[in-house]
Amino acid sequence: SAMRKARIKRTKTVCTYCGVGCSFDIWTKDRQILKIEPTPEAPVNGISTCIKGKFGWQFVNSKDRLTKPLIRRDDLFYEATWEEALDLITTKLTAIKEQHGPDALAFIASSKCTNEENYLMQKLARSVFGTNNVDNCSRYCQSPATTGLFRTVGYGGDSGSIHDLEIAELILIVGANPAESHPVLATKIKRAHKLFGQKLIVADLRKNEMAKRADLHLHPNPSTDLIWLSAVTKYIIDNGWEDREFIAKRVNGYAEFVESLEPYTLDYAEKMTGIPRSQLIQTANMIHAANGVCILWAMGVTQHCGGSDTSTAISNLLLITGNYGKKGTGAYPLRGHNNVQGASDFGTMPAWFPGYQEVQNDEIRARFERAWGTPLSKVPGYDNHQMVDGIHEGKVKAMYLFGEEMAFVDSNANHVHAAFEKLEFFIVQDIFFSKTAQFADVVLPASPSLEKEGTFTNTERRLQRFYQVFEPLGESKPDWQIIMAIANRMGANWTYQHPSDIMAEAAKLTPLFAGVTYERLEGYDSLQWPVAQDGTDTKLLYTERFHFPDGKAQLYPVEYTPPIELAEEYDLHLNNGRLLEHFHEGNMTYRVDGITHKVPSTFIEISKELARARELKDGALVRLISPYGRIEVRVAITDRVAGKEIYLPMNTREDAEAVNYLTSSYHDLATHTPAYKEMSVRMEILESA
Ligand code: SF4
Repeated sequence: SAMRKARIKRTKTVCTYCGVGCSFDIWTKDRQILKIEPTPEAPVNGISTCIKGKFGWQFVNSKDRLTKPLIRRDDLFYEATWEEALDLITTKLTAIKEQHGPDALAFIASSKCTNEENYLMQKLARSVFGTNNVDNCSRYCQSPATTGLFRTVGYGGDSGSIHDLEIAELILIVGANPAESHPVLATKIKRAHKLFGQKLIVADLRKNEMAKRADLHLHPNPSTDLIWLSAVTKYIIDNGWEDREFIAKRVNGYAEFVESLEPYTLDYAEKMTGIPRSQLIQTANMIHAANGVCILWAMGVTQHCGGSDTSTAISNLLLITGNYGKKGTGAYPLRGHNNVQGASDFGTMPAWFPGYQEVQNDEIRARFERAWGTPLSKVPGYDNHQMVDGIHEGKVKAMYLFGEEMAFVDSNANHVHAAFEKLEFFIVQDIFFSKTAQFADVVLPASPSLEKEGTFTNTERRLQRFYQVFEPLGESKPDWQIIMAIANRMGANWTYQHPSDIMAEAAKLTPLFAGVTYERLEGYDSLQWPVAQDGTDTKLLYTERFHFPDGKAQLYPVEYTPPIELAEEYDLHLNNGRLLEHFHEGNMTYRVDGITHKVPSTFIEISKELARARELKDGALVRLISPYGRIEVRVAITDRVAGKEIYLPMNTREDAEAVNYLTSSYHDLATHTPAYKEMSVRMEILESA
């Protein structure tokens, strides 16, 4: 038994699901995963995890894993060697670049992959192919939140740490469902609310678990958050409850901002949002009474035509009440994927080098040109949305995508699929033969986190290392090695031996990460950016200065954008989002038996009223139809949704039930984030059960 024990390995890893960033030891024997053991040293979660972190790893050994490169000939895929695949990629990309120019190429990075891999993807696009056409899936979720924070306080990340949520006197959650989407973060709020008298307000269409626990649940009409947020802000100012000292010392633009609030009276807000006046006043009172307010928000805010403006309104409210720069205050946009924060931080964005350094800035660009030894384009590239349009318009001819199920995750899936079909050449790199891979010309087998090393950055700007547990399965390779192989085939001379070499280069070029080294991230050690040269990190932003040249925050007036209007026949409002058990599109969690046993497929939540009106029973099969597509899904009757508002989890086991066949190409005006949350559908009954 001593020998048996010797074969048992214990390795520190970081959860590969949500943006909370739990870390734990994973016990393995050969390729067998024995258990997940959380440890008190884990900086975010200590000894907690959720069902996904604890039981969600079986996908790594799934028989569906890709183990060899695949090349398409006509309608079939054939196994190929790496040599053949790389030869084909180099030949095709070179030819397309020569014929149509570098901006005919587009690159999609991955919020599931590491900081180092994202760094290499943007370096590949920029320095090897000469284009800034590179983006990641924060375009689908959190770009509007980042924009709202850039406008007002300067850094696009949570202003404080997850632990500090426990000491806020009031938590306001807008358009988010952390009990299911960010479970371990939610437990901290649940605890503080239950044990320490913390107050909780939840604004959401759905009476989700947090809303059920809340002291006050606001149920606004869809797409009206900006109005009630502005009305509450105005009411606070009208009562003289603003933090005058904070505003005088630390904030610009107050007079103009106050003027911009003029239209947002309680009467107007009550009429437009449907929230009773008494609840608006109660919200303002609770904010006024609390010493320390944190506002958490997610896709219920961002995925609208006015998503950036509503995010800005949240930050404005925090500024006028002095709720920045102290523990237990601040802005917490909740990042979805494990590394959606890091993918953006490390530069897979069309206008920014790593660390949000502008590609248009000559001085910054010159620094990258010197470091990378090649001239770089100063023209900001296409974002995801513009890439899809660019393909339809014939401007984009080839795409290289890794670790992103764009075929299900982007809105208006039929439109996206049609674009994929028009590509002259499409490279998809993934651990599974995804829906997106079905459209590819070459499919490259990648390795999941347990088969490589790297770092992830969680929602509170925390970089954490994880270590290799298994050898890559079959001929799969870590994404960073594949990206490097393509670069070197194209004539680059990249010599990274280990992800730590990539991080060293990124840190040298990026003030935000100046002091980030692998040594400082050893084991359970972690760093929250910005990290100074000497390794001092930042748990709490804005204690002294906001991230603007004069150190002051900026109040930023915004206007209401009404939601898209559809013909009357589309009479049900379709909301969508996450589920506790499954993650995102479901490619990983539907390959875990335990989870799939618990939740075998997706479903549509409908209200009791709607069930009665349409004579539907639990389990009925319905067809949902929007102007953009149709799906078939089974009904679950619940009190979480009301009236004609329905809710569809975004994960999908069957092609035919993916929510994004229904969503449109409308988007947030400032960032092109799809307005996933602005959709109405009509329902046909197939079996009433
Ligand atoms: Fe993983 Fe998020 Fe669950 Fe933590 S809360 S275990 S990071 S999915």
